[in-house]
Amino acid sequence: MRLKDKVALITGAGSGIGRESALLFSAEGAKVVVVDVVDAAGNETVSMIGKNGGEACYVHADVSKAADCENMVKVAEQSFGKLNVLFNNAGIMHGDDDNAMTTEEKVWDLTMNVNLKGVFLGCKYGIPALQRAGGGSIINTASFVALLGAATPQIAYTASKGGVLAMTRELAMIHARQNIRVNALCPGPLRTKLLMDFLNTEAKKQRRLVHIPMGRFGEAKEMAQAALFLASDESSYMTGASFVVDGGITAAYVTPE
Ligand code: NAD
Repeated sequence: MRLKDKVALITGAGSGIGRESALLFSAEGAKVVVVDVVDAAGNETVSMIGKNGGEACYVHADVSKAADCENMVKVAEQSFGKLNVLFNNAGIMHGDDDNAMTTEEKVWDLTMNVNLKGVFLGCKYGIPALQRAGGGSIINTASFVALLGAATPQIAYTASKGGVLAMTRELAMIHARQNIRVNALCPGPLRTKLLMDFLNTEAKKQRRLVHIPMGRFGEAKEMAQAALFLASDESSYMTGASFVVDGGITAAYVTPE
């Protein structure tokens, strides 16, 4: 078991990457703190883990709120005695996020608050807990759009993920000698609710698919496998890295036919 005796907190664990990671981390021996704003979905993840014989609890927390983040870490320590893995994964892609001229300020602010401030707040309250545990691993979900510009605009989302990547590097430097590793997971386009709601027509899906060398969207399960590596001691010499799992999209100049 690759996460035996570890306690992992995962935000956005009611769906997509977060849920698949919660299930996989549990199967690999971790006790999991499932965090989301959609209580039914978060509780469903917990019961799925329970049915598989694992241990998990649900905490309602909006990652853009300091008091919620402080509480989710408190619950982790109270429930399972410590925190070893902090997976700042929750994120949104707003349907009205467009180019700089058309994106409303409130869409910008909301996106930044969840996607960027949410990672900051997770770390603000999570890092002291990792220090109390003698170290640990932080995984921040960024995106391939932190590395590449897209002509199908989502300006606030892209800027927020660029911030996550930059913040990850700095966090990694600050805590490198405290046995705390900090890495960013950069997924490519995935077949999860977040992207499929945004690419809501077949034409939009095809517009994105032509750029993916593998010719398909990625699966949340494939991201969970990457997150498991970053969470486990197998990645013990890795910090400050951008772990790109993207079907080849960032390597492409011209995609194969
Ligand atoms: P998803 O929509 O399936 O899951 C996201 C989860 O986060 C949901 O359960 C949602 O309720 C929760 N959430 C939303 N706002 C929250 C908040 N304020 N506080 C706590 N929880 C909140 O999406 P996903 O595809 O699994 O995305 C997970 C992460 O991966 C996000 O950060 C996303 O930006 C990133 N990502 C996704 C893709 C993709 O193509 N789907 C690509 C690159 C990066």
